[in-house]
Amino acid sequence: MGTFRRNDQVIVIAGDDRGKSGRLLKVFRDKDRVIVERVNFVKRHTRARSAGQQGGVIEREAPMHVSNVMHLCAKCQMGVRITVKKTAEGKRERFCKRCGELIPRVL
Ligand SMILES: [Zn+2]
Repeated sequence: MGTFRRNDQVIVIAGDDRGKSGRLLKVFRDKDRVIVERVNFVKRHTRARSAGQQGGVIEREAPMHVSNVMHLCAKCQMGVRITVKKTAEGKRERFCKRCGELIPRVL
């Protein structure tokens, strides 16, 4: 779980959305769950709360377990495992275990 950060590019490796990739919108560290942009849509029924507001069905991304996603390496173009290494400057950075490419942290 520790290596996933918001805005990371991931690929879904299990479930109905297997093979889809997207950006991590949210990481629920305590629950081991993540929300991936445009993946795992669920329909939610809403009721009109005030006059002029429409009830209906909205679709939203639902959280999924972190074991269903892998980091997407831009170079490998596939789901990869990550290794964390200290750089020469003493910063802890994440690297693709397969090709060694830096997995940048996007803020
Ligand atoms: Zn790679």
